[in-house]
Amino acid sequence: MEHPENDDLYRGLKVNKGVADVPTVNPYLKKRLQRKEYTPSEFVEGILKGNITILSQAVTLVESAKYEHQQLAQEIIEKCLPHAGKSVRIGITGVPGAGKSTSIDAFGMHLIKEGRKLAVLAIDPSSERSKGSILGDKTRMEALSREKNAFIRPSPSAGSLGGVARKTRETIVLCEAAGFDTVFVETVGVGQSETAVHSMVDFFLLIQLAGTGDELQGIKRGIMEMADGIIINKADGDNIDKANLAAAQFKNALHLFPPADSGWFPKVLTYSGYYNLRIKEIWDMVGEYMEFTKKNGYFNFKRNEQAKYWMYESINDTLRETFYHNPAVEGMLARTEQQVLNNEISSFVAAKRMMDLFLENLSKK
Ligand code: GDP
Repeated sequence: MEHPENDDLYRGLKVNKGVADVPTVNPYLKKRLQRKEYTPSEFVEGILKGNITILSQAVTLVESAKYEHQQLAQEIIEKCLPHAGKSVRIGITGVPGAGKSTSIDAFGMHLIKEGRKLAVLAIDPSSERSKGSILGDKTRMEALSREKNAFIRPSPSAGSLGGVARKTRETIVLCEAAGFDTVFVETVGVGQSETAVHSMVDFFLLIQLAGTGDELQGIKRGIMEMADGIIINKADGDNIDKANLAAAQFKNALHLFPPADSGWFPKVLTYSGYYNLRIKEIWDMVGEYMEFTKKNGYFNFKRNEQAKYWMYESINDTLRETFYHNPAVEGMLARTEQQVLNNEISSFVAAKRMMDLFLENLSKK
C-alpha cells in the first residue's frame, strides 16, 4: 500500500495522494544553455564579423582554467592578432567611490555618439570585487550597457593578478579584432593592478576627488607618476571651488615628479561624470596625447615594450604552471615543505631538490 497510514488501523488519519513536484530546474533552460561548439576558424570568423555572442564565448575560453579551453583560446588569439592593435587603449583608475562607473558611462556615451565602438574591461584580482560591488554588474554603466556598440566585460575573477591581467590583455586582442576601436581597462586605484593596467594601455587616466582632506587619497605616488591625465570628478554644484583648488594642488605636485619618458606633461582637468560636464575636454586631451606620442615615436616604442613585457610574463607563467603541475613535483612538494618546516633541510636546499626533480622529470609529463 502506498500510504500505510490510511489502513483501518489508523482511523482518523488520512493521507491524500500526493501531487508531483514541479521540477526545481526549468527543463527548457538546460537546452537553452547548451552552446554550439565552434571550431577555431568559426570563432575567428565570428569575431572578425563583430559577432558579440561569439566574442563573449571566446573571452570565456580565455578566462577558463581548463587546459583544452586554453589551447583553443590561444589558437583563436593567434589568428586574431593580425587584426588587432588598432584601438586606443585607455586605463582608468580611481579609488572606490571616485566615480569610475559613472564616468565610464559618460565617457563611453560620448564616444559612442562620435561613432566609436567601445570595449570596457577590468582588472580585478580579488574575487570579492567581481561579486558585483565594482564591475560585476552591468547596471553600473546603465546607458552604456544598452548600446550595441559597447561591450562590457567584468574582470576575470579567479587567479593571481598576473593571471587576471594576462587574460584581460588577451581579451583586448579579441575585442580589437572584433572591431572595437576604443578599449577601456578599469581598475581600482588601491593596489598593484595599476602597474598591470599600465603595461597594456596607451593612456593612463587617474580619477580623483576634491576636498577629502588628503588630496592624494591613499593613491600611491607611483600611481600618480604613471598618470598621463589626472581628472578631478564631481566638479559640480558646491564642489566646483574645491575641485579647482584640488586641480591646482595636483598641478603643483606633478611638477615635483621627474619628466615622463613620453615627453608628455600630464594634464589636470576637472569635470563631472554625473552631470556630463567637460567630458569632451577629457577626450581632446587623450587625442592630443595620441598625436603627440605618435609624432615623437613614443607610441610605438611603448607598444613594443609592452609586447616584450607580455612575452616574458607569459614565459614566466608557463614556467610556473609547468613546474607546479609536474606530477613528480606535485608528489614531493608537500613532503619537502614539511621537511623545511621541521628544520630538516634549508629552504634553499629544498628549492634546489625540487628544481632538480622537476628537470629530471620534465620529459615524463
Ligand atoms: P566607482 O566606485 O568609482 O565606480 O564610483 P561610482 O561611479 O559608483 O560613483 C560613486 C558615487 O559618486 C555614486 O553615488 C555616484 O552617483 C556619485 N558620483 C559619480 N560621479 C559624480 C559626479 O560627477 N558628481 C557627483 N555629484 N556625484 C558623482
